Amino acid sequence: MKKEEIVTKSIEKAQKNGYDGWDKNYFREGHILDNFHYALIFDHDFLKAFFGINTCCKSCGKIIENIDYCCGYMIPTFKWLYYGEQLFLSKNRLQYLEKFL
Ligand SMILES: [Zn+2]
Repeated sequence: MKKEEIVTKSIEKAQKNGYDGWDKNYFREGHILDNFHYALIFDHDFLKAFFGINTCCKSCGKIIENIDYCCGYMIPTFKWLYYGEQLFLSKNRLQYLEKFL
């Protein structure tokens, strides 16, 4: 997928889950598009809408429903925090987002 498509589809996905922050058209301009991933990794509302707010295992990211233990012990976190951190650490953030589209 082209950068522009990843940005547009990512924002559309977040909007379906109630995100009303950045408008996808805002990022169509060249340099702004390049900075999209920097803008959004700090946007918690985007991360919540994009990755979801379910509780998951802090070690592996698996959603925790009735399972109290995962990876030997339970350290819960939220999906958007877990995947938001992976996104933050990712060398190519747009490619990382693309995997969830
Ligand atoms: Zn786990």
